[in-house]
Amino acid sequence: MSESVLGEEVSADTVSADEVAFGETLVELDGLTKHFKSERGYLAGLRFKRDGTTLPRPTYERTDVQAVDDVSFEIEKGETLGLVGESGCGKSTLARTILQLVEPSEGAVYFKGENLAELSGEELRSKRKDMQMIFQDPQSSLNPRMKVGPIVEEPMKAHGMFEEEAKETDKSAAELREERARELLEKVGLDPQHYNRYPHAFSGGQRQRVNLARALSVNPDFIVCDEPTSALDASIQAQVLNTMRDLQEEFGLTYLFISHDLSVIRHISDRVAVMYLGHIVELANKEELFENPQHPYTESLLGAIPVPDPRKAGQRQILRGDVPSPIDPPSGCRFHTRCPHLIAPEEYDLTDEEWNAVREFVRAVMRRTFEANSEEQVRERFFDGTHPGGDAGDVVDEAISRIVLDEWETANELLQESFVQPSICASERPAYFVEPEHGTGEHFAACHLHRDEPQTY
Ligand code: SF4
Repeated sequence: MSESVLGEEVSADTVSADEVAFGETLVELDGLTKHFKSERGYLAGLRFKRDGTTLPRPTYERTDVQAVDDVSFEIEKGETLGLVGESGCGKSTLARTILQLVEPSEGAVYFKGENLAELSGEELRSKRKDMQMIFQDPQSSLNPRMKVGPIVEEPMKAHGMFEEEAKETDKSAAELREERARELLEKVGLDPQHYNRYPHAFSGGQRQRVNLARALSVNPDFIVCDEPTSALDASIQAQVLNTMRDLQEEFGLTYLFISHDLSVIRHISDRVAVMYLGHIVELANKEELFENPQHPYTESLLGAIPVPDPRKAGQRQILRGDVPSPIDPPSGCRFHTRCPHLIAPEEYDLTDEEWNAVREFVRAVMRRTFEANSEEQVRERFFDGTHPGGDAGDVVDEAISRIVLDEWETANELLQESFVQPSICASERPAYFVEPEHGTGEHFAACHLHRDEPQTY
């Protein structure tokens, strides 16, 4: 490495005084929130013109899209924090808000202890050098008219790298940047001779390696990887992930790795955060999260991973329904509209079997997943030996008679008002701490099922 312009390899022993040491907090999110204002247009009527013609009269309604809501966690220097969740849950908005590519609505991001929102424009620009991002689509994130060498050099040029060094050598800054670009191409597993090739001459996996080289060119500490391998074939994915791991070790990098794919997250992460509709619902060390998931949403995600043994497929939780809109997210626990473990309202005295039957019935009515030809048929299907007594039984009977009259909406409203809205799940946002069973570290699971465990905030 003596002739190299890549700088020294990083290890716990080679941290300079102004750097964050390995294992210490590099990035901290404190109540980070991003709400977008969205305008929904619809036709409110017709405008009549004097010549007898009409024009549609649009009206706009301003709504708040709660993409990211009150997210707090820390990322340690040298670790990979995986961030997983379904599409549309706010992962990418969170990534962009962390890097201040979009302005947070509330909360703060601290990088090496500094609040990024308090930096001046120039300070933030220079800080961005330390925080890079790799995007999902390696094709569209590379300029097709530029050769890959200059693509890798672009960020170095933008940050004026090697201008000072060039004064002390017989090489120009441009030559030093080219040297570094060629070395980086080799580091990420490409042939440095490909410096003069255009992106279209590379495969998807190779193009993502070019993106990696470009991100590394400015010597960052922290890289946000937004689904970097999801456009690649499985075998290429594994190779790129392994290269990212090697580079992390060599350069002391810290990753926030975003993916909807739990097997990718399992491959690359040290700790995992699970996101649902703008909230982090669970966060734990990788082994702990995969072996001992404590949030019903995490359990459902894990249940969706294909298993080789078909006998085990029947024991899995199936996640039904779509992610609700972030424009008007569900109250309390945002997962309560899909949760298979919704907690019974306190006013009813139901056995577990009775509540399971009621809960299944409520969910089936909400999604209209069955035919209702007679009251007996519905009772037999949902409440064979588990029909609740008292007020709960009266509500169930009323709902069944409405359904048979084809008044599904009325039945659904009645069930929601009687069984869902009074549940603690719909009225209070949960935040609890669970004692980890596997590995070390802390285990957060925001679920009322853990309401008797120590509360963290
Ligand atoms: S708080 Fe209630 S709705 Fe939310 S995950 Fe836990 S049991 Fe399910």
